[in-house]
Amino acid sequence: MGYVDLHLHTTASDGVKSPSELVRYANAKGLQAISITDHDTIDGLEEGMAEGARIGFEVIPGIEISAEYSPGSMHLLGYLIDFQNTFLKERLKDLQRAREERNPRMVEKLVQLGIDITYEEVVNASGGGQVGRPHFAQVLIAKGYVRNFQEAFDRYLKKGAPAYVDKFRFTPAEAIHLINDARGVAVLGHPNTLGINGARELENLIIGLIKQGLKGIEVYYPEHSSSEVIQYKALAERYGLIMTGGTDYHGIEKENIDVGVGRGEMRLPYSMVEALKRTKDESSRSN
Ligand code: AMP
Ligand code: ZN
Ligand code: FE
Ligand code: FE
Repeated sequence: MGYVDLHLHTTASDGVKSPSELVRYANAKGLQAISITDHDTIDGLEEGMAEGARIGFEVIPGIEISAEYSPGSMHLLGYLIDFQNTFLKERLKDLQRAREERNPRMVEKLVQLGIDITYEEVVNASGGGQVGRPHFAQVLIAKGYVRNFQEAFDRYLKKGAPAYVDKFRFTPAEAIHLINDARGVAVLGHPNTLGINGARELENLIIGLIKQGLKGIEVYYPEHSSSEVIQYKALAERYGLIMTGGTDYHGIEKENIDVGVGRGEMRLPYSMVEALKRTKDESSRSN
């Protein structure tokens, strides 16, 4: 059995490769399957799945939904979702509207800070997909205001930075329900970004999310330390959650990350996909 990568972005959100390019790239790398998990959008799935079908490569429909949470950020991955689900499509439109309100306000803030930037430039950087902060970062880099992505986020774009504007998000319960409603499998993405320090606090959070319908944890992720991997694995085992992993490849932001291997250390077995499929079948039987 081969290897997989279950966390990837395309031009439908803030990745650099189009869905078809990403699928061909993963196939050429020798992977067995991937999931496309764009932020808050399913717009890349049809193209990605069609390209997969055309070349005979398995593409798992996915999404990564940002949920309301502090102090850090909570991302919920939804796998094997029915992306034609009308309720899902409707609710995702609310998130698109929230972005369309927020993005011009971030441009205004940057202009007030003395930066020469227009909304049009940011939209152009997005290549026609959904506009996000990484596209602002691209413009700031291209115009020489910052040297790299990290500097763009640290100085201007991150939560609490001078050009940051908050946007509407679903609560964790809403995001999980939405995924389950679309017959998907809800997985807590990269728990290390939650900003939780204590092991007990994370455990309590996960117990709560399981009650809402959480089915898995993204254990393997390039930014997870080996002790975090051990901690998340133990939690998954204790609560019967499935374990997934992925590189969060965007193609720009983290230039040293590659599909399927991350920084070289990742090897994610196809059994992760089988576990997702089993979990989906079990949930549909119990509903
Ligand atoms: P948005 O969808 O507009 O809220 O942008 C979210 C994306 O910005 C994330 O997927 C990350 O790629 C990137 N991002 C958010 N916070 C940071 C940060 N502190 N440092 C670097 N990249 C970040
Ligand atoms: Zn992203
Ligand atoms: Fe994420
Ligand atoms: Fe991601």
